[in-house]
Amino acid sequence: MKRAWNFSAGPAMLPEAVLQRIASELLDTNGSGMSAMEMSHRGKEFLAIAEQAEADLRELMAIPDDYRVLFLQGGATALFATLPMNLANGSGRADYVRSGHWSDKAIREASRFCKVNVAADCEGNGFSRVPAADEYRFDPEADYVHITPNETIHGLRFPELPSVEAPLLADYSSSILSEPVNVRDYGLIYAGAQKNIGPAGLCIVIVREDQLQGAREGTPSLMDLQAQAKAGSMLNTPPTFAWYVAGLVFQWLKAEGGLTVMAERNGEKAALLYGAIDASDFYSNPVAAECRSRMNVPFFLADPALEDTFKAEAKQAGLLTLGGHRALGGLRASIYNAMPKEGVQALVDFMSDFERRYG
Ligand code: PMP
Repeated sequence: MKRAWNFSAGPAMLPEAVLQRIASELLDTNGSGMSAMEMSHRGKEFLAIAEQAEADLRELMAIPDDYRVLFLQGGATALFATLPMNLANGSGRADYVRSGHWSDKAIREASRFCKVNVAADCEGNGFSRVPAADEYRFDPEADYVHITPNETIHGLRFPELPSVEAPLLADYSSSILSEPVNVRDYGLIYAGAQKNIGPAGLCIVIVREDQLQGAREGTPSLMDLQAQAKAGSMLNTPPTFAWYVAGLVFQWLKAEGGLTVMAERNGEKAALLYGAIDASDFYSNPVAAECRSRMNVPFFLADPALEDTFKAEAKQAGLLTLGGHRALGGLRASIYNAMPKEGVQALVDFMSDFERRYG
């Protein structure tokens, strides 16, 4: 058996130690005589797993006591609709920052349920930098401001947060747990699991209690955040196995030293890869240096006709899933927490060799 370096944007690599632990306890988890995927979600064995996962996440992210943690389904995309249904019930208006593909999706979905004001739009700069402080045009009546701190496709990261009056809501799908964040800066944080948390099927929501004012009439009960908070995220059967694996990832993160250590490692990995891209005219990345994602690195070949050859030869070398998203083209390497520096080094070595042969 040989594990490949998998640069998929999501579902993505999981830490090998976590996969091994799953394998070792698959038939008998915590002395229960069952796998976690066979446990009743209301039984004491699973409730212990669920509570431990929440406690570990709270510790890792230093989540204050007046924030609730929810383990929901439907991915981040379900939250695109859930947010306006629950939180745009004052003026019915919300500010969104359009910084790339995923914030655009969030805007389109939210527009079905509230009046969206695009407070800043990065399309004018080709999604190559986040808005400058004086470029925001916030609606003073907005119920909230929504941002996407890391754009998975465009590879754009907010180096700092906009200064806002309304509660800040953030789609952290592709950068949660990659570095410390100050949860207090947000009214709500959400993230699909399949990048830095665990398997697909789970979406984590961290929400300040004062934001749980009740959903609007007609909201499906599964999308009612207040009802889910009251029910401990168990209005129906939750994705138990994904929740269990997320818990193992949280334990792994704690054992590795937590989010400060992750931030250091991720900074080093990103510097290695961007350094290789910038050192050559053969490769390029258009994002302003201070706004470059440390998780998702899109890059382009000077001669796009070589892309298929690049991907095929990379695959031969054990470097998988380097194609760019169909919305943007080019190539992309996603280097989440579970990607070791060794994997990024293998990619950089391959890139240099490829350039030598085709440049
Ligand atoms: N937001 C961001 C930033 C993403 O990267 C993704 C998935 N790539 C989504 C939302 C959509 O997530 P899901 O497929 O879990 O709905």
